Amino acid sequence: MGNTTKSQKRVSAKNTVATFFIVFFVLAAVICGMFAMDFFSGEKHSGVTYTIGKTVYTLSAKEAYDGDTLLVCFDDIAALCEMTETGSAQSRTFFAANSEQSIAIEAGSRTALLNGSKVDMLAKAKLRDGKLYVPLAFVEQYMSGIAVSHSTDKGDVQVLRGEYNASTKNNPLYQDTGFTGTAEAPLDPPEGSLDKVAPTYSFVTDLSAYEQYMCPEDTDAYLILVNRSATIDAGYVPDNLVEITNVRQDGRTERMVETAEKALQALYIEMRAAGYTDVSVTSGYRSYEKQEYLYNLYTENEMKAGISRAEAQKIVDTYSAQAGTSEHQTGLCCDMHNLSSASQRFANEEAYTWLIENCYKFGFILRFPEGKEDITGYSFEPWHYRFVGRYHASEMHRLDMCLEEYIAYLGENE
Ligand SMILES: [Zn+2]
Repeated sequence: MGNTTKSQKRVSAKNTVATFFIVFFVLAAVICGMFAMDFFSGEKHSGVTYTIGKTVYTLSAKEAYDGDTLLVCFDDIAALCEMTETGSAQSRTFFAANSEQSIAIEAGSRTALLNGSKVDMLAKAKLRDGKLYVPLAFVEQYMSGIAVSHSTDKGDVQVLRGEYNASTKNNPLYQDTGFTGTAEAPLDPPEGSLDKVAPTYSFVTDLSAYEQYMCPEDTDAYLILVNRSATIDAGYVPDNLVEITNVRQDGRTERMVETAEKALQALYIEMRAAGYTDVSVTSGYRSYEKQEYLYNLYTENEMKAGISRAEAQKIVDTYSAQAGTSEHQTGLCCDMHNLSSASQRFANEEAYTWLIENCYKFGFILRFPEGKEDITGYSFEPWHYRFVGRYHASEMHRLDMCLEEYIAYLGENE
């Protein structure tokens, strides 16, 4: 009895966690879609127009955003609020005009000192043309006495000080500006776990341009769990599918979600530099329909041995997924090896050893490892790699957990 209750609990917890991540993933996909134009074809966009008091200027989408975090020039806001400041261009403390309130901002750091208390920002402060830029959300959350507006469709930002009303006419009634945070009551960091900072690794090649993909800003956006009990909708098609660069050169076209594909490019650059040049991607995104077709094809094949459909499916279930239960539908995984077809023999190749020793640095995990068959429900697949981003991949590597174990672990530790 005790066992039944326990396993039921675990299943429902798993489902809740799975539902959470599916919802999370869909939201992230929508947000990514909204900003895709800004990220990947900046020239097509006119950029973000800032109106800060009487200062008006435009930044390109690329300059205005750090990942999906919109930045704003703090120097302009400080000028608007008549703050005084000390320090260097890199690291400065700003003082509110009529109070003891202060904020210390350092370029390259995500932590600001707000009235002496450490507060985390959504992105690192940036130094551009001698001016410090911080996330707009940070200004909105912690500054008082100013009006911040931001149009989500055009991305334009307006920061104004003072109020106009009938009695003031065209002369604004200025309020004191300052920072709403005290040393006695340190404020909670904004939504999202800011302790999830991906480790840095050194590479033989220069992969700095790929860091943003290997370590996506939205750390949890790539954790979707798809397996036999956590299924994916038949109609689900990921956003931003792009062609895989390092695909097998036999005329095939395979696709993957762009962030995962860029991270995979980085992995290939480093893997080639390590001398493993013959590994290529044989499969990426698979639609629901294609998975359905493959599963049926394999089943028919097994049935040639004279066994029933049910018996054949039992066998096929150990190496292929029924439609809606394949992670290939997420566009976040790929099959890669240097053999004529996917086989466990790939585990004997040196390239495989390199992959399992290094893939987490690029945000990938070996999805169906040896020894975890009972948990994943799949045989060992030395060829199947899944993108989750570097932070989680490194954690899973450190904890020696497969995705099912890790998601349960995250659920228990929340
Ligand atoms: Zn696969």
